[in-house]
Amino acid sequence: MENSCLFCKIINGEIPANNVFEDEEILAFHDINPEAPLHFLVIPKKHISGPGAVTATDQQLIGKLMQKGAELAKESGFDDFRFVVNNGAKAGQTVFHFHLHVLGGRALTWPPG
Ligand code: 5GP
Ligand code: ZN
Repeated sequence: MENSCLFCKIINGEIPANNVFEDEEILAFHDINPEAPLHFLVIPKKHISGPGAVTATDQQLIGKLMQKGAELAKESGFDDFRFVVNNGAKAGQTVFHFHLHVLGGRALTWPPG
């Protein structure tokens, strides 16, 4: 828990979110500014600032985020989807708490911007 972290505040209920899934380790919620018909975020409840800060201790947790993100996308009726994880401001990271973007429901181009 980082006092100044937006997503830690969502985890502890200080800031409301539209939740998709929650258990003791992870939370999934709709992105406030969706970039596609399907756009939700999956985050660890443990504060990890981004993918660059993941340690060996977190391997199972990060694997679970991906497994759960895929399961939730498919359950919502989206078999085609994209995972995005940004690390650092130049890569587009604006919230410094690890989050897996799950995007779907429209054609997605490659390479990304
Ligand atoms: P990043 O740019 O760090 O990869 O992604 C941060 C994401 O968090 C953005 O897609 C942004 O729309 C989303 N976001 C920022 N603030 C909030 C918020 O208060 N609530 C929700 N649900 N999403 C947020
Ligand atoms: Zn945090």
